[in-house]
Amino acid sequence: MSKDHPTLLVNATEANQRFSRLLAESEQGHEVVITRRGRAVARLLPVFGGDEAETSFGHPVGSDLPDYDKRRALIDTCRQMNKIGLNQGASGNASVRVDGGLLITPSGLDYDKTEPVDIVKINYEGRVLRGSRNPSSEWHFHCRVMAAKPEAGALLHTHSINATTLACLGRSIPPFHYMVAVAGGRDIRCAPYATFGTEKLADAVLTALDGRLACLMANHGMLVMGRDLEDALKRAVEIETLAAQYLKALAVGKPQLLTVGDMDVVLEKFKSYSAWANPKAR
Ligand SMILES: [Zn+2]
Repeated sequence: MSKDHPTLLVNATEANQRFSRLLAESEQGHEVVITRRGRAVARLLPVFGGDEAETSFGHPVGSDLPDYDKRRALIDTCRQMNKIGLNQGASGNASVRVDGGLLITPSGLDYDKTEPVDIVKINYEGRVLRGSRNPSSEWHFHCRVMAAKPEAGALLHTHSINATTLACLGRSIPPFHYMVAVAGGRDIRCAPYATFGTEKLADAVLTALDGRLACLMANHGMLVMGRDLEDALKRAVEIETLAAQYLKALAVGKPQLLTVGDMDVVLEKFKSYSAWANPKAR
């Protein structure tokens, strides 16, 4: 330890009473030595630079949890959503399909503080199968969409600025740009408003997603499906970009829309990207 971070000697009784304080000291770089009758019996050593704890066997803590990799990927995707400005704070949520149900982000926990053990496994009725936290309050639409769309591997929900701005205007995104086809059809619908965390909102979202891979949600945000988390995140970025472009075009005038024929040509060309979903309605 450097002389800036002297070693602290604490007897076992005091260590027991003040453990969280000692942990904070360790996080700040102090080595804490716990003594019993004047003899050192244990020590807390600071860990520098690591972003994931490892056990003495070299495995990340919690790596024995079922679906550990998907739990980790879910957290990483949510952190990425915040990092690239697609979502703010803990407002969005995400899920990924696993055997027997889905893994979903917990309610009211910042993504930076979320660990694999905090991710909740639920079945398609929303019953918690594993986890001590409550699932995201939006579990209704995650469950309903995952049950109705067996081809979807992941769902992302965000309150991204531009998509949400359009949603607050109650506007769908028409075919003003050919990339609208990334949502699987000739437009990106806006589901009518319903209170967050309700079955009514799940109904509205499911209707708006008919033949689509994404929708806006009035006065709320957007929802995006993906083959997997990476695919869903890419699509969410595309749709947020389209929303920004559409708002800019609206600010200047009346955007020129593509025809049904134009969009059908694009949808045909996009088939290879969304073959996993094979949406029927256009
Ligand atoms: Zn929301």
